[in-house]
Amino acid sequence: MSQTTQQETVREDGVIQSVSGPVVTARDLDARMNDVVYVGDEGLMGEVIEIEGDLTTIQVYEETSGVGPSEPVENTGEPLTVDLGPGLLDSIYDGVQRPLDVLEEKMNSPYLDRGVDAPGIEMDKQWEFVPTAEEGDEVAPGDVLGTVPETVTIEHKVLVPPTFEGGEITSIEAGEFTVQEVIAELDNGEEITMHQEWPVREARPSETKMTPREPLVSGQRILDGLFPIAKGGTAAIPGPFGSGKTVTQHQLAKYADADIIVYVGCGERGNEMTEVIEDFPELEDPTTGNPLMARTSLIANTSNMPVAARESCIYTGITIAEYYRDMGYDVALMADSTSRWAEAMREISSRLEEMPGEEGYPAYLSARLSEFYERAGYFENINGTEGSVSAIGAVSPPGGDFSEPVTQNTLRIVKTFWALDADLAERRHFPAINWNESYSLYRNQLDPWFIENVRDDWPEERQWAVDILDEEDELQEIVQLVGKDALPEDQQLTLEVARYLREAYLQQNAFHPTDTFCPPEKTYLILTAIHTFNDEAKKALDAGVPVEEIIAIEAAPRLNRIGVQEDYAEYVEELKGEMTEQLRELY
Ligand code: ADP
Repeated sequence: MSQTTQQETVREDGVIQSVSGPVVTARDLDARMNDVVYVGDEGLMGEVIEIEGDLTTIQVYEETSGVGPSEPVENTGEPLTVDLGPGLLDSIYDGVQRPLDVLEEKMNSPYLDRGVDAPGIEMDKQWEFVPTAEEGDEVAPGDVLGTVPETVTIEHKVLVPPTFEGGEITSIEAGEFTVQEVIAELDNGEEITMHQEWPVREARPSETKMTPREPLVSGQRILDGLFPIAKGGTAAIPGPFGSGKTVTQHQLAKYADADIIVYVGCGERGNEMTEVIEDFPELEDPTTGNPLMARTSLIANTSNMPVAARESCIYTGITIAEYYRDMGYDVALMADSTSRWAEAMREISSRLEEMPGEEGYPAYLSARLSEFYERAGYFENINGTEGSVSAIGAVSPPGGDFSEPVTQNTLRIVKTFWALDADLAERRHFPAINWNESYSLYRNQLDPWFIENVRDDWPEERQWAVDILDEEDELQEIVQLVGKDALPEDQQLTLEVARYLREAYLQQNAFHPTDTFCPPEKTYLILTAIHTFNDEAKKALDAGVPVEEIIAIEAAPRLNRIGVQEDYAEYVEELKGEMTEQLRELY
């Protein structure tokens, strides 16, 4: 945060009237909505959320016990902003962008103390700036002035801030600079540094929001194959405990073809967040071999941190995502979990004694959720480049009940739903994504990409698989009543084909070095191999071969091993040949 506490400059321009948990009411404070204020003798950071007459209501981002009436409240006169610039990547922040490692060092303890603050990016670190624009160039807001090697993986682009007017460059120089030093001057007197601030609750400007046409390829078969998300798309993923939410998120962070990952952990149980803080820095970026953190910014708010900081963490995250989007990058933002975020809203709303909506959530729950997901998208940036923010929000419905308000409101907004399923996880079917309940509304608009980049009949193959799985779902009901053997032979065969779809196609082992990532080409080939088995088996059945003999052919079980093959194209070719041969031998 840029509003660094400067205790010595506290002006007593308001006094505390009352304190109720994270909500503080102040008298005589001259403030506007959303101004950042410092509360009490310790200068706890907070934000104005309501003004009525001479009473101002503030949500405080830190624990407020011991803070009492008549202590001072200072207004900064500025909204809650994030510091943007090189140094955002490879960082771990709390919900108001205080770097956790810096705070720890300051306090000599991993437990955050109150009233401690630190800027979101290092102000004194020197960065090597390489200009790409030169003296005499006309630059407009958003234009790239030069680059900085931010991490081993990512080149940071230094942009003319969107709030500047722009003009002719009168000086620009290569060299080592801190983010506070001027790297370029314009003829209208504007001085540009590598540091920008941006109010978190306001979307950064863009030229246009476009219809997303490219998938965010994840290398996970069930996602790319059946329920793809677009670059710039939105998705929700519920996370019943033990169903593989963490593994799925790690897989996405590692393999999704996004340039930048912003991971917002808001208010999951303390130890789960610790897991993320410990896990992420260990992960390797499979494409570069560099640490994954070199393209990741992590925001970690555990549930034992104050509730208001949880409310803000989502905004902090999406603002950072937009900043990299403006550089022309594809950013994937993962929020875990939006339910805890909504609960924070509910808690603050009830302290404000607002009229509660469904299950005590504020009436504006749905508006807030859509405001957040609205900021995702595929954009033409103001500098003419294209960039995207894809938003993937985990929801944690209590008891796995999808009818509760947060899940329901989220489903109304997002266009992809990956239904993690505790039963599938229990049966060790991973990823435990329920194919009957999940959906993607991007399928049709992404088909042209798959047709062009993978194969012409991508949509038809997928539809074939969907139909078989649907049929299996219906047949299962009958099987439960009368048993499999009572079914006609062709339906028994359908069940066998569906089993291969589940085992060879939908299941994917995140821990197998090859199977963990499945390129779209391989996803497609696995499907066609099963399809070949289906077609040849049908022919054998029509020729009078009993179904038991068909499903007993020696080659078929090898379908389940395509996933782990590196030379999958050859393997599939050979397997198709052998299955065909063995089936034709039967008649
Ligand atoms: P959650 O975060 O939902 O509580 P995890 O992501 O930790 O659950 O997953 C629980 C366990 O399920 C993992 O330890 C792992 O053994 C298994 N698992 C989940 N997803 C996969 C996967 N794609 N491949 C293999 N195993 C998985």
